[in-house]
Amino acid sequence: MLEPGATVGILGGGQLGRMLSVAASRLGYKTCVFEPGANCPASHVANEHWHHDYDDTDALGRFATACDVITYEFENIPTAALDVLGDKVRPGRRALEVSQDRLTEKTFLQELGLKTAPFATVDTSIDDALTKIGAPSILKTRRFGYDGKGQVRLRNESDGAKALAEMDGAPSILEGFVDFEFEVSVIGARSLEGKVACFDPGENVHKDGILRTTTVPSRLNKVRIEQATELTAKILNALDYVGVMGVELFVTPDDLIVNEIAPRVHNSGHWTQNGCTIDQFEQHIRAITGVAIGSGTRHADVVMQNLIGDDMDALAQIVLEPDAAVHLYGKEDVKPGRKMGHVNRIVKP
Ligand code: AMP
Repeated sequence: MLEPGATVGILGGGQLGRMLSVAASRLGYKTCVFEPGANCPASHVANEHWHHDYDDTDALGRFATACDVITYEFENIPTAALDVLGDKVRPGRRALEVSQDRLTEKTFLQELGLKTAPFATVDTSIDDALTKIGAPSILKTRRFGYDGKGQVRLRNESDGAKALAEMDGAPSILEGFVDFEFEVSVIGARSLEGKVACFDPGENVHKDGILRTTTVPSRLNKVRIEQATELTAKILNALDYVGVMGVELFVTPDDLIVNEIAPRVHNSGHWTQNGCTIDQFEQHIRAITGVAIGSGTRHADVVMQNLIGDDMDALAQIVLEPDAAVHLYGKEDVKPGRKMGHVNRIVKP
């Protein structure tokens, strides 16, 4: 276990880096955030903001020396940067390799015996993939997609050529459309010793590809909660994972279908800040520093709502609500689609 006073490095200075930083400080650690952008959300709360580009190997080398352990808030960290940072990075490289590329990720999940949406690779032509998957379907870039970006929906097979043109040559996969009842995610954690703990699955509602709300408890029954927890543990163990992971699932009448995994704290786990004694951010810091991890037990029902763009207009009203905890990210400019903060509403029976 890292002693209080040790330094936790965080790659990425957005809201996730900010909340990881606060959690690390609560446990007595110093925090250094590596982020190319100035005045980023995490820089307001960290001990140090290392303001350099991810290809500045010199700065990365000094960062690795200055930190006792290094984690990250996003999965698209360049491989060259990881080469410089070495084995101080947790979760480790395998988790990043798997989750950076949708094709590698889906193949890995299927090899574990888990269900995914049907998919086919697309390179210069979409014809073979369309023959295999058909429509409706979704064309997704293999890499660098987030919040619904890098995705085009195909209503009919005739939409194929246009959709492919929108990908602008990026390697992609065509995914069959899953007719799900609802979406949930499991936030799981694995400690250095291999102990696994999961938070209750939260039910997610997306709009325009962006998460709007997460509600706990979800509509999953007890048996399916166990199945969701078991499959998350399977993924964590297979990757010899250390830290917190988000596993997004589509729920159909017969199956739990894995949509994607995120090797980091996750927007759909923000409810834990007010629903659990040890939230996902503290859980992650505990796991990577070798402190015992929490059980994931929930003590309240919560609805988490993201405050996106104009949602901020309601802030003056939200702060008057007696059971609403507001978490703001310190971003200066409100922009459409920009996550400015979130509110956790405790739901009383
Ligand atoms: P993703 O970036 O893959 O998480 O996709 C964002 C959102 O698009 C998901 O949360 C779903 O609501 C929807 N979506 C993605 N893939 C599929 C699919 N294969 N079938 C149905 N809906 C999907």
